[in-house]
Amino acid sequence: MADVEREDDVAAAVREADARGEPLLVLGEGSNVVVGDEGFAGLVARMAIPGIQVERAGDRVTVDVGAGEGWDAFVTRCVSEGWRGVECLGGIPGRVGATPIQNVGAYGQEVGESIVSVRVFDRTRGRFSTMDAAACGFGYRASVFKRSDRWIVTRVRFAFDRSGESVPLRYAELVRALGVRDGDRAPAHRVRETIVALRRTKGMVVSADDPDSVSAGSFFVNPVVDAAAVARVEAAAGERPPRFDAGEGRHKLAAAWLVERAGFPKGWGSGRAGVSRKHALALVNRGGATARELLACARAIRDGVRSRFGVTLEPEPVFVGCVWDEPTGGSGEEHGHQGE
Ligand code: NAP
Repeated sequence: MADVEREDDVAAAVREADARGEPLLVLGEGSNVVVGDEGFAGLVARMAIPGIQVERAGDRVTVDVGAGEGWDAFVTRCVSEGWRGVECLGGIPGRVGATPIQNVGAYGQEVGESIVSVRVFDRTRGRFSTMDAAACGFGYRASVFKRSDRWIVTRVRFAFDRSGESVPLRYAELVRALGVRDGDRAPAHRVRETIVALRRTKGMVVSADDPDSVSAGSFFVNPVVDAAAVARVEAAAGERPPRFDAGEGRHKLAAAWLVERAGFPKGWGSGRAGVSRKHALALVNRGGATARELLACARAIRDGVRSRFGVTLEPEPVFVGCVWDEPTGGSGEEHGHQGE
């Protein structure tokens, strides 16, 4: 394992791993990663590139940030400087360089909306390049970087409005907690504080005092389905599922709602891995659970949701040295890298 603190270190780590014929794993804080019980047989490069450079131009500010900077501290700085664009993304663990990978989002805001470009080491071409936002292919919790090891993110360039006000707020729970109306704005610092407090009640802020925060955050992505699938879910559940317009006649369903209605309530599972007591989407390690136990629990939930509702949940974390798409009741052999 090596800390990479400069771009030169990144190129050196790639060369070293390639020369030895070993895989390379680039890690931030590891908060969205499930590592197999056999570990990872290769070089782990821990992203630690520092630095925040700010350029002001009128009402806009451009901020160039090293991939190793802590994400939550960066959000706090943005809010305190009056830079609008990431105030809904407070309380999320990990480092800045990890945020474009899955276009981190929460409460209706996505990091890709504020990203101008991402500087990467391109392993295919063996050189650094700068990818603008369009080239990053940002989608719902997705980008070209997700589940690919071609690019290593070394810096992220953001552009923000200079404003103490948040973006318009749409999430019912947030709007309620702030005492504003749907679509209103609120002071960005209050939005950040309120969201961090909400996340804490759901075990989504990593804390030594909270056993329900020992998780990889949401384990499943909210599924985006067509109208026929929504109708099937409604028929099976006997009630209308919460759903949100996802464009092109498609609807986003709340994975947590499906999980709970399929018989996996908060606190489910009697083993060392189970559903968080605070949020049905988080799977927690209650102490000493193996990756196999965690995956068995997650697959039981996926299978239960599929047989009840006909919807297949996809996992959100990155799997290292273990695979997700193993048939249920498989041999338990979980070596090697996950494919696409
Ligand atoms: P929630 O408020 O209980 O809502 C359930 C789901 O409904 C959310 O996942 C959200 O989708 C969707 N939703 C609610 N209001 C919506 C609206 N006005 N428009 C579109 N979609 C809406 O959700 P929660 O689980 O407590 O999470 C709150 C926010 O934090 C969510 O945005 C969630 O994604 C984010 N979060 C992410 C992680 C992670 O590990 N990635 C962990 C915790 C929370 P979206 O998820 O698409 O926003």
